[in-house]
Amino acid sequence: MTEQLRPDGTLRHLLTLEGLSRDMIERLLDRAQGFVRPLGARPPVSQSLTGRTVANLFTEPSTRTRVSFELAAKRLGADVVNLEVQLSSRVKGESMLDTVYTLQAMHVDVMVIRDAEAGVPASVAANVAPHVSVLSAGEAHVSHPTQGLLDALTVRQHKKSLEGLSIAIVGDIRHSRVARSDYYAFRTLGCVDLRIVAPPALMPAAEEFAGCSRHTSLKTGLKDADVVMMLRIQRERMGHANLPDADRYFAKYGLTPERLAGARPGAIVMHPQPMNRGIEISSDVADGPQSVIRDQVRNGVAVRMAVLEAVLAAGTGA
Ligand code: ASP
Repeated sequence: MTEQLRPDGTLRHLLTLEGLSRDMIERLLDRAQGFVRPLGARPPVSQSLTGRTVANLFTEPSTRTRVSFELAAKRLGADVVNLEVQLSSRVKGESMLDTVYTLQAMHVDVMVIRDAEAGVPASVAANVAPHVSVLSAGEAHVSHPTQGLLDALTVRQHKKSLEGLSIAIVGDIRHSRVARSDYYAFRTLGCVDLRIVAPPALMPAAEEFAGCSRHTSLKTGLKDADVVMMLRIQRERMGHANLPDADRYFAKYGLTPERLAGARPGAIVMHPQPMNRGIEISSDVADGPQSVIRDQVRNGVAVRMAVLEAVLAAGTGA
């Protein structure tokens, strides 16, 4: 595995939450919390990254992650370049590494990479110059570390600590990088009762998600849960034949107000988005009083500010 930390223990790359210490995750979340403002208030701005350049290299579609990395960098005073990879030289056969070396020669300090192929962020990280950092913005089904952090921050804001909570992650766990990053974040922060709830075909391999209980029934999976994280069916990672029928899926696994009533009163509902209303979640729940889905989006900018500062600004201690 590519080393994410510098010899002095500070964060250089962020490719996965696996193996990051609780202390480091908590410091990133504390820093991110300092960047959160109520809706309607002016977002925080600083010049801590003036003169630094962040490149967004996305080869898979993204709305929230790309925009929030861009806003995060700009609010810290950095310059940002967004590479529309479809339009760039990659379609002419230039390898990802050649693109990265080109950007590096232009003094880009941080490469934010989303790619459908497993291993791409790590192979870039293994080849960049020592002053360059690589941040994963979503790697195949494997990892989405800033999503894991923003989800943990959202839980912490509503439930104070993750210790003692019952958290259910529901849906297409098998193909979800969000579920994998949430798993590492939630477990490292002390969540003992972590449940994965999915139809058998969408369960991950037995050796993954160690320590989680597995439920094929939504009812038992949600019973007395404090947090319910709903996931999208990752059509793009499935063969056509394996796609569940949308109506049948909703009938068994869709989150409705009646089903949510089986969770603990005051349970929060989360979703990384994009949502398929009427497939994994009903609009009543997505827009209802227990939904914190928009808090997740707001926290995404704050977390990405904290991560950019941690890798770029020496001496932040994160
Ligand atoms: N936006 C999240 C991701 O990139 C979740 C999803 O696409 O369903 O993984």
